[in-house]
Amino acid sequence: MCAIAGAFNVPNASLVVRHMLFAMQHRGQDGAGIVSSHAGRLLPAVRGFGGVDHVFADIDFDTRLPGLTAIGHVRYPTSGDPKSEANLQPMEARRRSGDVAIVHNGNLTNARVRHHDLEEAGAIIRSTSDTELFLHFMARSGESDTANQLLAAGAKLEGAYATLTLTQEGIFAMTDPWGFRPLVMARCGDGYLFASEPIAFDVLDELELPEGTLPSITDVTTVPQGTIVRVTGGEAYVQTYMRPPLSRFCAFEHIYFAHPASTVFGQSVNAVRERLGKILGWRNTVKADLVTAVPDSSNAAAHAFAQAAGIPFRFAITRSHYTGRTFIKPGQKARQLGVRAKFQIVRELVKGKSVLIVDDSIVRGTTTQKLVKMLRRAGAREVHMAIVSPPVVHPCHWGIDTPERKELVASQIEQGALAAHLGLDTLTYLTHAELLEALEDPKQDRHCTTCFTRVKPIHCHKLPH
Ligand code: 5GP
Ligand code: MG
Repeated sequence: MCAIAGAFNVPNASLVVRHMLFAMQHRGQDGAGIVSSHAGRLLPAVRGFGGVDHVFADIDFDTRLPGLTAIGHVRYPTSGDPKSEANLQPMEARRRSGDVAIVHNGNLTNARVRHHDLEEAGAIIRSTSDTELFLHFMARSGESDTANQLLAAGAKLEGAYATLTLTQEGIFAMTDPWGFRPLVMARCGDGYLFASEPIAFDVLDELELPEGTLPSITDVTTVPQGTIVRVTGGEAYVQTYMRPPLSRFCAFEHIYFAHPASTVFGQSVNAVRERLGKILGWRNTVKADLVTAVPDSSNAAAHAFAQAAGIPFRFAITRSHYTGRTFIKPGQKARQLGVRAKFQIVRELVKGKSVLIVDDSIVRGTTTQKLVKMLRRAGAREVHMAIVSPPVVHPCHWGIDTPERKELVASQIEQGALAAHLGLDTLTYLTHAELLEALEDPKQDRHCTTCFTRVKPIHCHKLPH
C-alpha cells in the first residue's frame, strides 16, 4: 500500500506535497519521493528510502524542487523488490512530447504478463515495479496527448490503480475502473490538490509557507472510479472513461489501512470502525472483566465493542511509538521480536482478570500469539479475543500486503482449532454479512472482500496466484 499526493498551481507546491505525504505516513514508511515542474520542465525527483521526515530532512525545497506544481509518493512495497532504488517513486521518463513522472497506489494484477510482453518486444525495463508499465505503455501508445496516453496504458493494465501523472502542462489523475484505492481532490485558491486520503488536506490548515499562507481549501470531492481528471488551467476537466455498474472499494482500507480521521469511499473511517465494533459487541457472550484494544489500529472498534457488550474498556495494552514496523519485517523471528518491543502490558489492570482483546484483523497470527503470552505472563486469568473482520484466508492482489496463503493462519488452521493454536480461551470473528452491514453495503455492490471470501471480482481474469 502507498499514498500519493499532488499540488497544481499552489505556492511552494513541493513543500505542500511533503506535508500531505507526512500526514499519510501510515500508508507507507519504506520510501518517499517528490518531483516538481517549474518553468516548463520537470526537475529531477528527490527520492529515498525511509519516512518523509528522513528523506526530506536536508532538502531545500525552494532550490531542489521549485515551482507551483508537484506530485509525490510514500511507499509500502507490495510489488517489486523492496530494496531496489529503481522501484522508488515518482518514476520518470522522457517522451517525445515532454518529460513525464508518475506516482501510483495499488497493484496491477497482469504486471507479470505485461513485463514479459514488453521484454519480448525489446523494451528495456528499469525496475521490478508494476508502476513502470504505465510509462512504457504511454510511450508506445502512438498518442501525443497525455490523457490519451494514459487511457491507452489503462487499456493494457488490469488491477488497482490510483495514479497522478505530472507533465509540464499540469497533473493528470487516473483511477482504475473498479475504484479499489481511494483518491480525493480539492480546490486550493486557483489551484488544485490531490491525495489518497482527505486527512492530507486537513494538515494544511493555516500552514505558513515561505510565500505566505496557503489559500483556503474548498470543494473536497472523491475522484470516482474509471475517471481521468486533467488540471492544466483554471478549471479541472473530468472525463469518465468507464463506468461499471459495481465498485470494488477495498474493505481493508476501512478495517485497517486508512486514517480514522479520513473519509474514504464516501464513508467516515472512524464511523465504519465503530460500527464494526458495535456489531460484534452486541452479540458478545464472553463474560470478561475488561476489553482492551491493540493500539492504534483497533482503538475505535474496541471502544465501540466494549460499550455495546457492556464491559469496561481499559488501556491494558500500550504501544511504543518509537519502534519500527513489525508487520513486514522479514522472517518470523524478527516479527515476533518486533511485536515484543512494540506492545507493553499494564500489569495491575490484567492480574487475575479475564481480558478480552479486540483487534482489527489476524493475518499471520504473530501479534495475537505474542500478546496472549504476554498477557498470561502478566497474570491474566483468561484471554479472549474478538476480531472485527472475518478471517483473512486469501492474499490481496490489489495492494494490501497480505502474504501468501500458506502464511495466513486462518487459511491453514481449521476455525475450530484456531483459538487453541493462538493460545486463546475463545476467539470470535465478525461474519462476512456483518462486515457488509458495517460497510452499509448489504448487496455487496461496492466493496472488494476477496481476502475474506476467496471470491474474486468477476472482471479479474489473469491473477498471479
Ligand atoms: P498478524 O500479526 O496476525 O500477522 O497481523 C495482524 C496485525 O497486523 C493486526 O494488529 C493488524 O492491525 C495489523 N495489520 C493488518 N494488516 C496489515 C498490513 O497490511 N500492514 C501492517 N503493517 N499491519 C497490518
Ligand atoms: Mg494492529
